[in-house]
Amino acid sequence: MRIAFIGLGNMGGGMAANLVKAGHEVRAFDLSEAALAAAHGAGCATFATAREACQGAEAVVSMLPNGAIVRQVYIGDVIGHAPEGAILLDCSTIDVATAREVIEVTEQHGYQMVDAPVSGGIAAANGGTLTFMVGGSDEAFTRAEPILQAMGKAVIHAGQPGNGQAAKICNNMLLAIHMIGTCEAFAMAQKLGLDPQTFYDISSVSSGQNWSMTSYCPVPGVGPVTPADNGYQGGFAAGLMLKDLKLAIDAANTAGAKVALGDHARAIYEAYAEDHAGSDFSGIIRTM
Ligand code: NAD
Repeated sequence: MRIAFIGLGNMGGGMAANLVKAGHEVRAFDLSEAALAAAHGAGCATFATAREACQGAEAVVSMLPNGAIVRQVYIGDVIGHAPEGAILLDCSTIDVATAREVIEVTEQHGYQMVDAPVSGGIAAANGGTLTFMVGGSDEAFTRAEPILQAMGKAVIHAGQPGNGQAAKICNNMLLAIHMIGTCEAFAMAQKLGLDPQTFYDISSVSSGQNWSMTSYCPVPGVGPVTPADNGYQGGFAAGLMLKDLKLAIDAANTAGAKVALGDHARAIYEAYAEDHAGSDFSGIIRTM
């Protein structure tokens, strides 16, 4: 397929390269010259504007920083420049309301669109092992699925437009809560005189077991190799977790959902990200 790809940063660069590897013709655009040069090196054709990249594209994929930029790119540059009928896939993490609005407007102009945010970080983007959670009509999902398959290991239809974003922020709010809880438990165990490895051996086969403990242990040298073993570098940046928690709290307020622990997690990550926005989110254990 001929695919326009807009937003070739940490995540989008690897995703676009995987579309090239799958045999697609990728027409790339980013505001950053360095990102464009890297995309060129990965086999993408590069363009000076999003509008040019969209010329003749059967699909448009985007991986952008926030909802305001997504709205500006799709409503300002994609509509009227990508051929009518093209399938549009926004993989950025943005607020549910903007995702729904942009899908509605583009569909009014004769396109089909899905929101398809991802679980998995830069390594998964490079390795083609992302999980996509997808909101959109059945028909739009059917068209988007093979394109997403080329960049991921799982593609799940979450329902109506915006539901991909809803799934993403609910999941990440839960992740933040259980990471904080896991860190508190390890820190407290140690203060009570319990060796972290011993606590891991017990809790990882008891009712406190959870993904943050057994797949992403925040204690160096315990459990599988994780960012904790690398000075909390790499992995999922605390600043990005804070972004997702803010989106979650805004969405909860709009929907009238009670999220006392989610809101507390946001406050804890807000304080942590002041000095550690770039380090892995499990590094929060160092504050305990
Ligand atoms: P990034 O900042 O590395 O990349 C964003 C890119 O978009 C940059 O290259 C920037 O130049 C480009 N850009 C900004 N405005 C643009 C415009 N108007 N037109 C074209 N290009 C534009 O960010 P990232 O880490 O790749 O994250 C992208 C999205 O993926 C975000 O929504 C983020 O929340 C989400 N996400 C990131 C991760 C992660 O681990 N990095 C994981 C899951 C989801």
